[in-house]
Amino acid sequence: MDIRTRPGTGTNQEAVRRHNLATMLRSVHQAGRTSRAQLTSAMALNRSTIAGLATELEELGVVRHSDPVTSPGAGRPSAGVEVAGEGAHVLAIDVGVDRVVVGRVGLGGRVLARERRRIPSSPDPRQVGDVVAELATATEACAGGPLVGIGVSVPGVVRRDDGVVQFAPNLDWHDVAFEQVVADRIRHDVPIALGNDADLGALAEHVRGAGLGVDHLVFVSGDVGVGAGVITAGAPLSGAGGFAGEVGHIAYDPEGLRCHCGNRGCWETEIGAPAIARAIGAPADSVATLGAVLEDYTGDLEALRVIARHVGRGLATVVNMLNPQVVVLGGFLAPLHRHVGPDIVRTLHDSAMQAPGRMVHLCTPALGADSVLLGAAELAFEPLLADPVGVLS
Ligand SMILES: [Zn+2]
Repeated sequence: MDIRTRPGTGTNQEAVRRHNLATMLRSVHQAGRTSRAQLTSAMALNRSTIAGLATELEELGVVRHSDPVTSPGAGRPSAGVEVAGEGAHVLAIDVGVDRVVVGRVGLGGRVLARERRRIPSSPDPRQVGDVVAELATATEACAGGPLVGIGVSVPGVVRRDDGVVQFAPNLDWHDVAFEQVVADRIRHDVPIALGNDADLGALAEHVRGAGLGVDHLVFVSGDVGVGAGVITAGAPLSGAGGFAGEVGHIAYDPEGLRCHCGNRGCWETEIGAPAIARAIGAPADSVATLGAVLEDYTGDLEALRVIARHVGRGLATVVNMLNPQVVVLGGFLAPLHRHVGPDIVRTLHDSAMQAPGRMVHLCTPALGADSVLLGAAELAFEPLLADPVGVLS
């Protein structure tokens, strides 16, 4: 019997129906395309209930029928369900050290439009807000469905409840109410959420990237500094004040260089972009674009091997503490891994405890350079995925 027509207490039934709609939409969003048979099996509901829920989501404009899908091991092909083409979408904003990227992202994590602009070093937050607003207007220009949320990534420590950037060392921001800055400039009446870049990279790789189906994941991001987003037991780890994952400031060498956090010899002073630029003889002004420099690097690999050993030794601490199944190396660490990955792994194995060291798999982001942008999109989609009826009705 269809759950909507079953007699019973109205309020409770309505809550169950909305919960089921949310669960189905999240499944289709994560898969991009699935089948009614797979949804029936995953949600443990009967076929007519699944058909009714799919129809309701179609009427909300968030999913549509697609060609029948044959599942492995299943019998006949089953009616396909996929995310709607130009339906509800979000704005994902990735504020980097030297540039802002704004994407219009649809359900299923599809980037429908994107704009990018360089920003000066140590930028004024209000100027960055102006750039964000201009790029947002450009990406929204041809939108075919409703905007349902805005997600913003910043390379710093974020207080989620009020959207204040407590500390973004490479932007030179301290206690900046950046969520409010964005809200004042983008005049859309939709929720805005702010997150740390590495946390959002971890989120996207977990939902649809290299960490799909992996419950213990660390995304280590090399922008100018180094930070990590941690998923443990399937949930993000934030710590009491949002500082969890600040692995760039692992106390690494007591005799080392002064770090911008105020301490001496943090891991970041050995593997951050300035250190790598020095090691390979790249000009100081290439620090913000080190990823591109390393992509094209054809110089002496020995210089990179020295860095790789520092990366592996620091990762050993991360692995000993968090025991992840997968460590995703993002930002400039991805091209570094492509050049000298075996050196990183060898040092990690030599330095970590044997069991967690052997257990972990090192890889680069499956979402390429878009992990953080797509993580910001996931943050923005969360209210819709939690209650599609409440957001769209
Ligand atoms: Zn530090």
